[in-house]
Amino acid sequence: MTSQSSTQPLSTEAAERVPADHFGGPIGALALTIVMPVVSFYLWASVSLHDGSLWVPTSLAELTAMVPAPTWRATAMLGGWLALHVVLQLVCPGKVVEGALLPNGERLKYKLNGLSAFVVSIGVLLALLATGTLSASSVLAELGPLLTLATLVAVALAVWFYAWGRQRGPLERSSGNVAYDFYMGTVLNPRFGLFDLKFFFESHVGMGSWGALAVLLPAAELERTGSISSAMWVVTICQLFYITDFFVFESNLLSMLDIIYENYGFMLTHAFLVWIPFNFTLQQQYLLAEPTDLPIWAIVGLLVLNFTGYVVFRDSNLQKQRFRRDPSAKVWGKPPKVLKTKRGTSLLLSGWWGLARHTNYMGDLMMALAWCLACGFASVVPYFYFIYFAPLLINRERRDHALCKEKYGDDWDEYCRRVPHRIVPFVY
Ligand code: NDP
Repeated sequence: MTSQSSTQPLSTEAAERVPADHFGGPIGALALTIVMPVVSFYLWASVSLHDGSLWVPTSLAELTAMVPAPTWRATAMLGGWLALHVVLQLVCPGKVVEGALLPNGERLKYKLNGLSAFVVSIGVLLALLATGTLSASSVLAELGPLLTLATLVAVALAVWFYAWGRQRGPLERSSGNVAYDFYMGTVLNPRFGLFDLKFFFESHVGMGSWGALAVLLPAAELERTGSISSAMWVVTICQLFYITDFFVFESNLLSMLDIIYENYGFMLTHAFLVWIPFNFTLQQQYLLAEPTDLPIWAIVGLLVLNFTGYVVFRDSNLQKQRFRRDPSAKVWGKPPKVLKTKRGTSLLLSGWWGLARHTNYMGDLMMALAWCLACGFASVVPYFYFIYFAPLLINRERRDHALCKEKYGDDWDEYCRRVPHRIVPFVY
């Protein structure tokens, strides 16, 4: 296998140096390189060691306990899990598709086999649990060491990718500042032939590990107490549905900024290995420590909130995709209202895209809120997902707005006039 990124000629566009102006420049990037792991360790310690409280370290021992030492057992688990996914990526069947057009004019090919790899890996996990070969509680006893190891792997990968980009010279967007480039990355699509490392770690490893923890946490509750609390059921069903849906629509990832625009640096190595699997399962981690039974009206209410959010999220994204493929396709059974633009592409004014400019974000936030509300109101820690996600999507909408204004000029102003709300119809 050859390293495509290191053998292909690059255009002058790809050789461009960029100013270090995202996330507060080099200082901001350095701060985030430290803050992202600290937040993840702090949240793990809050749930695992401090009863879900917002604790303040009062001794050196408390501070050091926040970063558990790696163990051989955890090393074998993480190594085995990553090795399994490498094998599944190589052997599972999947359609080979072309990705989006990159800034250097290239289109890369991707093998989409995330769904089959996810089903097999979760199947293996369930078989190990069902036959008693593995106990969920013994895996979760290693959650702290696993977090430390995953963080170390994220650092090692970021160093590797930084060197990968540097080895080729300033070939893909880099600023020349070490701290900034380490965080933001210096290489866009490190890959060996069809094996695209950024896609693999985001999809198979990031979302797949989230799925594995979403199975292990209720299994551990079952082992410990002989039953699964209703709140744990609600969060598990909703999250496994969301993750499976991600794999069913895995090709959507190919048009997202992570894949087509962001270089692969520490921001993403940490996000895929640590942030997604460990922080997104905080609700279940909390519920394992504090089993919660919900009244029937709350269960129904949360499922309705989650699946209504899902319909808004998925249907709005599909509406836009269908519209991009066929601008005359009916929307909600009627011919679409369309704004033709000078740029050539049109903007959809019907369906979800006529109610607000990013109802897809609203759907995502409704699901996030349902998962958090299932944990009750005794602790703010399981609300982390919503607390971080809402500002992230509000900021993302503003960045997309600026990008669209640049792309569409006056036509975007006209779209905003006809669809005045940003995320929530009639409200915001
Ligand atoms: P969108 O899917 O909303 O795409 C925005 C782009 O769509 C615009 O740049 C524009 O591009 C096009 N567009 C905007 N308005 C219209 C219109 N009226 N008609 C047709 N095209 C339009 O953005 P994201 O990639 O940010 O989000 C995708 C999904 O991923 C969302 O559901 C989001 O919630 C989710 N997400 C989840 C995250 C997570 O951590 N769970 C993080 C980030 C996103 P153009 O015109 O050039 O086609």
